Amino acid sequence: MKIVPGWRRRPFAPVWKLLLSSLVSSLAFAQNSIVASAAKPDSMPHGPTVNLNYIDQGVRPGDDFFHYACGAWIKRTEIPPDRSSVSPGTALTELTDKRVADLIADAAKAGPSASPETRKIADLFHSFMDEAAIEAKGLKPWQPQLKAIAAIRDKQELARALGETLRADVDGLNNTNFHTPNLFGLWVAPGFNESEHYTVYLMQGGIQLPDREYYLSDSAEMKMLREKYQAHVSAMLKLAGFSEPDARASRIIAIEHAIAGTHISLADDNDIEKANNTWKAADFATKAPGLDWAEYFRAAGLDKQASFMVWQPTAFTGEAALVAATPLDTWKDWLAFHFIEAYPAALPKALSDEQFAFFGKTLRGVPQRQDRWKRGVRVVNDFLGDDVGKLYAQRYFPPEAKAQVQAIVTNLIASFRKRIDALTWMSPQTKAEAQAKLDTLYVGVGYGESWHDYSNYEVKADDIFGNSWRADLADYHRQIARIGAAIDRHEWSMTPQTINAVNLPLQNALNFPAAILQPPYFDPQGPAVANYGSIGAVIGHEISHTFDSEGALFDSKGRVRNWWTPEDFAHFEAATASLAAQYDTYKPFPDLSLNGKQTLGENIADLAGLAAAYDGYIASLGGKPAPVENGLSGDQQFFIAFAQSWADKVRDAALRNQVLTDVHSPGEYRTLTVRNIDAWYAALDVKPGEKLYLAPSERVRIW
Ligand SMILES: [Zn+2]
Repeated sequence: MKIVPGWRRRPFAPVWKLLLSSLVSSLAFAQNSIVASAAKPDSMPHGPTVNLNYIDQGVRPGDDFFHYACGAWIKRTEIPPDRSSVSPGTALTELTDKRVADLIADAAKAGPSASPETRKIADLFHSFMDEAAIEAKGLKPWQPQLKAIAAIRDKQELARALGETLRADVDGLNNTNFHTPNLFGLWVAPGFNESEHYTVYLMQGGIQLPDREYYLSDSAEMKMLREKYQAHVSAMLKLAGFSEPDARASRIIAIEHAIAGTHISLADDNDIEKANNTWKAADFATKAPGLDWAEYFRAAGLDKQASFMVWQPTAFTGEAALVAATPLDTWKDWLAFHFIEAYPAALPKALSDEQFAFFGKTLRGVPQRQDRWKRGVRVVNDFLGDDVGKLYAQRYFPPEAKAQVQAIVTNLIASFRKRIDALTWMSPQTKAEAQAKLDTLYVGVGYGESWHDYSNYEVKADDIFGNSWRADLADYHRQIARIGAAIDRHEWSMTPQTINAVNLPLQNALNFPAAILQPPYFDPQGPAVANYGSIGAVIGHEISHTFDSEGALFDSKGRVRNWWTPEDFAHFEAATASLAAQYDTYKPFPDLSLNGKQTLGENIADLAGLAAAYDGYIASLGGKPAPVENGLSGDQQFFIAFAQSWADKVRDAALRNQVLTDVHSPGEYRTLTVRNIDAWYAALDVKPGEKLYLAPSERVRIW
């Protein structure tokens, strides 16, 4: 569970996610960047401090705190044409991309003396940048597989083809991605019930659009998107030389629609108890008849696997039944279309442009594509992330930043311990269990203790299709090879060059990558108040995931175990239900509210994280009064810095997409968790009658 939305970066991920990862990461950066100092232009990364020229003095903090703290910046800021959003942290994205590009350029210069790792980085980048070679090949690299799909004769061969598409492209708890366009997705992680070993989780899949809502919703907006999607499917098939593209597109969309109908909602995906289902291999035939499971698992290389965790059992039953009930030719069209969409980095221009026209312009409202070199950086980060990350950490992560961040983490964990001890509603037994989770928490700062080994991944300088295909497959094989092995609790799930942070509940671990530990998020020279309001709230957020609606179901060893007394758990559930209800009331669009259940875990982490960061900030003062700056008290600076850290401006289509498909609330509403913190009322002089005012009894207090 991360601080900010982000998207799967593996290529078997839905095309729109890969194509738009850079756009989306700009959304990610929007979320927790801290503010510019008044003296510097908006576009430069800078040390965190409260920025007076972001503030809209015409808005009362108690009526609309987000627009009070960020309104002036929002009014004067334009979203760049190649982005779905912009934030004061966008400049750090640009800087990080540039730094990775420099590392790649150095790798290319190394020539024959280069290490195999360096050579691979240079070759992979080159294979993506060589547009002439990509055009010359056209769709040739796809042909053997398309021919194999066309030759499928029966449902047994179909089951084999479906099994061959299984990839490690979903993630239930860490990078939280529940979407795969393949029929099902695989995630290898510590077991829910046996957390000492890696086990295999299977998840629903089979649709290209981001979520079942895109198929099932009756809203006018969604109907329009479905019509445009149909046109896109048809256009891709036509460009790929298929006969009767319109008729095929209709059938493909009909089956995706039927698949979406079997899916459970994103809100339910986040319910660990609903996901905790062990199926023995033999159970699939009886619990989900319709698919030749023996053939499917054999093709996936999983025929020796005795049992699986099935995240959404009803979807498995439904999707398997659809395999039986739907004509073979329809499935073949579906397979072919999904296969064409699956390798965007290798597509020739006409198809690539068509993909962007739908997944970029229509689905996310982005007018213009990013420069090719930036997309090339993304490809290298996706396929060789740790190799390039090792170089990034060596060059760009100073040890003093690591030491200072570790000190903030220690301080915030201490704040959390005090908060737990002070809870009046919690029994001593439950408190001891909660404290035990903090005892065993592993906190990684900067980069991991080991690196992924890509030696089984072959890269060729003139083969971006093969490089994409093999990257997926190598990762899949790496994942399935470790099923049953003892877990590495210190393994990272993010690369050092990722501007994000994450809590890994099954490992009881946190990762704070090097790239987020710099201005505007964190400045070793910056004032404590701003560092606590920005990176402090990020760190507090990740620690708090340990105790959010999902994290609270895992014990100190990472097992799913109810360690609560019944009374304490009832209190926890009631408090979290009121937070969900609070977020249900926010409406970014007249026809669309936030989903308090879908965003609950993140909202709990925001609230508890801000509270812990505030305590950590007060503790860091060591009893001295906070310095007043520009007429703002320490508390005012803290809360305004926090709000400004969420400053962003998002295109409507992208915002709608986020509300429907993300477990994170949009930045504006994340800011509003201040309503639940008593100190905010005193600091900003918020009074009854103002729009955001909550009576003390209505403020949600969880941790
Ligand atoms: Zn989070």
